[in-house]
Amino acid sequence: KLVSREFKEENTRIRIGRQVEVGGEAVPIIAGPCAVEGRQVLDEIADALHAMGIPMLRGGAFKPRTSPYSFQGLGELALKYMSDVRERTGMPIVTEVMDPRDLLLVYKYADVLQIGTRNMQNFRLLTEVGQVDKPVILKRGMSATIKEFLMSAEYIVSHGNDKVILCERGIRTFESETRNTLDLSAVPLLKKLTHLPVVVDPSHALGRTDLIPAMACAAVAAGADGLMLEVHVRPQEALSDGAQSLTPQAMEELLERLEPVARAV
Ligand code: PEP
Ligand code: MN
Repeated sequence: KLVSREFKEENTRIRIGRQVEVGGEAVPIIAGPCAVEGRQVLDEIADALHAMGIPMLRGGAFKPRTSPYSFQGLGELALKYMSDVRERTGMPIVTEVMDPRDLLLVYKYADVLQIGTRNMQNFRLLTEVGQVDKPVILKRGMSATIKEFLMSAEYIVSHGNDKVILCERGIRTFESETRNTLDLSAVPLLKKLTHLPVVVDPSHALGRTDLIPAMACAAVAAGADGLMLEVHVRPQEALSDGAQSLTPQAMEELLERLEPVARAV
């Protein structure tokens, strides 16, 4: 397999923009709101993250909501707001593409294409993002085995795009105190099986903010190449995933906790 360590021994390093590298020595953080809700609130969040040195901004324009009556995202408007943030701050932007029909549009604005957990086995979508030249964050399906996860990555790489970043975001188990169960063993296991970088998203794994700092530190200690975290200036007003969104202040405190852990690995 093209994604296997046997095929390629050295770690794949993926450059994003001018400053960021995923898979190298640093542990870059991707942070931002679950969804882009408006220009002003996005600017508030992005400016706070930029001020604390977060190198990459995330934000959903097309949201895969469980209910068709929930906020579905602002679409192209959200992509425009994010690219304006990039213009102003230099932060590369990460956003989800849900459907092959949206790929050209999302491609036009995004620096990194995200494939969500619900689309990990959307093979047409994987094939399409395999034919573009921008990095892809592939999130693990909420019920996917490690083998299935790697085969989905193989779809993308085998179609020509080797810039794939794997993201462990929690899997479904019987436990209901947390939204999902963060499978941290996936990190060292994936690092053993594949040369692709592995990042961890504690926000979607836990679904609550109080456990995020501990698990973010644990993810870095386990060898994660990066973290994805949801941040909102007013989590209680967020249109999606407010319960798991850190405030900028909590994000800043987490950065301080992470620093010695990142230095130690
Ligand atoms: C997200 O990143 O906002 C998201 C919807 O993630 P996942 O696909 O992991 O649920
Ligand atoms: Mn979310």
